[in-house]
Amino acid sequence: MIGKKKKKKGQLIVLSGPSGVGKSTVIAELMGERRGDIYFSVSFTTRAPRVGEADGVNYNFVTREEFEEMIVRDELLEHAEYVGNYYGTSLKVIQDKLNAGIDVLLDIEVQGAAKVRAKCPEAVLIFIIPPSFEELSRRLHGRATDQEDVIAGRLEKAREEYQHIPSYDYLVVNDKVSEAAAEILSILKAEDCRTRNRLHLIDDI
Ligand code: 5GP
Repeated sequence: MIGKKKKKKGQLIVLSGPSGVGKSTVIAELMGERRGDIYFSVSFTTRAPRVGEADGVNYNFVTREEFEEMIVRDELLEHAEYVGNYYGTSLKVIQDKLNAGIDVLLDIEVQGAAKVRAKCPEAVLIFIIPPSFEELSRRLHGRATDQEDVIAGRLEKAREEYQHIPSYDYLVVNDKVSEAAAEILSILKAEDCRTRNRLHLIDDI
């Protein structure tokens, strides 16, 4: 018989996309739509906080020594070095949330996403792109006070990151934020309906 039992494990969701694509805005929209029932994983990083960023909210800011100790103690689900800084995801926090049936969202770059794929094959990997490279360039020029060479570096990095798109499950174009967030919500709904995620509904047959 099909019951209305709570699903057993949360869904692990990985979002990647080039710098300037508007990932944070899409994530904020998504979290608002799901009214806080997705847990956003706060990563550890060795990079310095930017203006407006708070420790424990945007990232857990740590020293290189602290980060390397976490690697040695095997406390990270994945980690990567990106533009000279370490970034990593806490294993315990993620496991606890997933085991409690809570969906977890990771905003991580492509090397980390590949590691999550290898360790957690059931994770859903979504890559967000801008409508075009011209638009990405326009957004990068418009959003900050970065020098031309920094912007050129980000565009070059984006080209490298695009090489990894075929290993993602879904590709979302962020032209309009509300539409990109709506597409991701549809993806999550479809994942939720996968037979393997619903077997608990028939376990009393
Ligand atoms: P930013 O310094 O601009 O906040 O982030 C730089 C890149 O690091 C982004 O692509 C972001 O998705 C990625 N990132 C953030 N946290 C993590 C993490 O825990 N692991 C990995 N592998 N990448 C991360």
